[in-house]
Amino acid sequence: MSTNYRPDTICIQAGWKPGKGEPRVLPIYQSTTFKYENSDQMGRLFDLEDAGYFYTRLQNPTNDMVAAKITELEGGVAGMLTSSGQAANYYAVFNICEAGDHFICTNAIYGGTYNLFGTTMKKQGISCTFISPEASDGELEAAFLPNTKAVFAETVSNPSLVVLDIERFAGIAHRHGVPLIVDNTFPTPINCRPFAWGADIVTHSTTKYMDGHAMSVGGAIIDSGNFDWMAHKDKFPGLTTPDESYHGIIYAEKFGKMAYIQKATAQLMRDLGSIQSPQNAFLLNVGLETLHLRMPRHCENALKVAKYLQSHEKIAWVNYAGLEDNKYHALAEKYMPNGTCGVISFGLKGGRDISIQFMDKLKLAAIVTHVADARTCVLHPASHTHRQMTDEQLREAGVQPDLIRFSVGIEHAEDIIADLKQALATV
Ligand code: PLP
Repeated sequence: MSTNYRPDTICIQAGWKPGKGEPRVLPIYQSTTFKYENSDQMGRLFDLEDAGYFYTRLQNPTNDMVAAKITELEGGVAGMLTSSGQAANYYAVFNICEAGDHFICTNAIYGGTYNLFGTTMKKQGISCTFISPEASDGELEAAFLPNTKAVFAETVSNPSLVVLDIERFAGIAHRHGVPLIVDNTFPTPINCRPFAWGADIVTHSTTKYMDGHAMSVGGAIIDSGNFDWMAHKDKFPGLTTPDESYHGIIYAEKFGKMAYIQKATAQLMRDLGSIQSPQNAFLLNVGLETLHLRMPRHCENALKVAKYLQSHEKIAWVNYAGLEDNKYHALAEKYMPNGTCGVISFGLKGGRDISIQFMDKLKLAAIVTHVADARTCVLHPASHTHRQMTDEQLREAGVQPDLIRFSVGIEHAEDIIADLKQALATV
């Protein structure tokens, strides 16, 4: 149940509400299954006539309490956890797109999502048109086809750090009768509330800032409840016509604003089974309890680091929307006035080889695949995640060969800067 609490209070209090004599801390329901008194009670659950738990592959109380907290943080009506951010993005699209359908996605997105949408889902018969987040209204309009079912984008893209014009994208999606789905992993709901700007569905890799400690892989999908599926009945038959695998239930009729998440749980989670483990959901909840404290510190540190790098003679360029001369500063001011996230990117004069030499000299910042963690970490996509590509291919994919992704942690900013300084002195 949603409250009027501020995000700080929601981070601590939402979700688990213990009754008399119950544990103060959210318990881990480490059980695959749940007991009932008689067969009829269990049968009613299978018919979706009663709400309740029966098997953790579909739902688990620990997970649901954590999903409820994230739902309240985003200001949505329903939410679910998934085993990873990849699963969240897959379910979010697959819940409304079937073989023969099409959707539009910005090309400034996480590489894993790009592969999922552009290669794997294509094999399932779902096609995706990638378009620049800076495409004009006309270019975006031109990407719509009669079978387009959704528009997808990242609110702050990984690793290119493009800030999405959420309101503009939502307006165009709605004019074409489809929802806007946004991956809000980098800003988190502490810095950006996409539903307030017209986005319909939000996804997260909770692996990142929400967990915050690099302990557990996870994902989440939250629905605003604002998109009217029945008003576009023909486009979304999965929600507006009977589901034969569920005794002919019509999700949008039976569940109203909860239909989208109800279908993703009852159908996709049942069949594909990418549930988050209750143990990981418990750890995620511990992370969420300090999200409102960590995000401002990440942003504060990132701005200090970005300014330091900008003033260094060996640095060719710095990308961070918090910098006043940044291309995305105005959009960030509008959608994320308290800061975007702790991730910055930059390039060294001298290019790819110098970048590698520099990174090897860092002592406090660790070379890891991860990003958006309490500890400062660093990655050179051209040598790691994108190492099979030539410089030309990298540029086509929007990743400059010299781009260093630097995820500023919540250590003391001066210590992070001192580490950069000593590494820069060696190259
Ligand atoms: N979305 C974004 C923006 C990401 O950065 C990532 C991973 O880096 C994902 C989704 C995928 O999340 P996961 O690694 O939890 O599957």
